[in-house]
Amino acid sequence: MKDLLPPGVRQQGERGIAFVIAGPSGVGKSSVIAALLARDPRLAFCPSVTTRPPRPQEVPGRDYHFVSEAEFDRLLAQGALLEWAEYQGHRYGTPKAEVLSRLAQGRDVVLNKEVRGAWAIKNAGLGYPVVLIFLVPPSWEELVRRVRGRGTEDEEALQERLRIAQAELARIPDFDYLVVNDELSAAVTRVEAIIQAERMRIVRCG
Ligand code: ADP
Ligand code: 5GP
Repeated sequence: MKDLLPPGVRQQGERGIAFVIAGPSGVGKSSVIAALLARDPRLAFCPSVTTRPPRPQEVPGRDYHFVSEAEFDRLLAQGALLEWAEYQGHRYGTPKAEVLSRLAQGRDVVLNKEVRGAWAIKNAGLGYPVVLIFLVPPSWEELVRRVRGRGTEDEEALQERLRIAQAELARIPDFDYLVVNDELSAAVTRVEAIIQAERMRIVRCG
């Protein structure tokens, strides 16, 4: 097919694309990402570095790189993080080398970020397209049910996450796509549609 294209034109998917998934805690970001990775071998998840302690089901190196405060300070001083943010008293950051090396290999990268981080990555001058996807719950009541049902926070931390969620919803205008996570497989199919469309986008590169 490539030989049929006029000069100076390619499809965006010929090179790596970064897809950033954001949205309120408990909306289902991790669940959607796990399903995407299982279905599309071109996608690579880049785990963040965090000082938050692991949750029971989380696997170090798969879900997050869990590090001490001192180690996080060291990474910051080295300039190893593309961006970082504090969330509920813990620090979270995006390892620059991991993201860039996968994009350079032509893989599409999936990132799980809070809204400020998503925006920071869009503006980081990565040299690769960055697509921002905001995941919303079908209702506020359902969000509360999910975050409570996950059982990973005590009531005080849960209430703080819900306060942060209100502020995050106000940032929807900064995003490229809005996806409702009502039924998990339907939400995954919607995100896959975005990924496919972005790969087919025509880029004028001449
Ligand atoms: P996040 O990564 O956004 O904080 P999780 O992926 O941990 O959210 O999901 C929060 C909880 O909601 C989990 O218990 C998960 O199993 C559940 N969940 C995720 N998506 C759905 C959905 N579409 N319907 C019902 N429950 C869901
Ligand atoms: P959790 O503790 O629920 O895993 O994550 C808390 C919040 O931190 C979520 O909104 C998640 O998207 C965000 N987050 C995870 N990693 C990073 C990161 O590297 N940078 C930023 N800015 N946010 C992150």
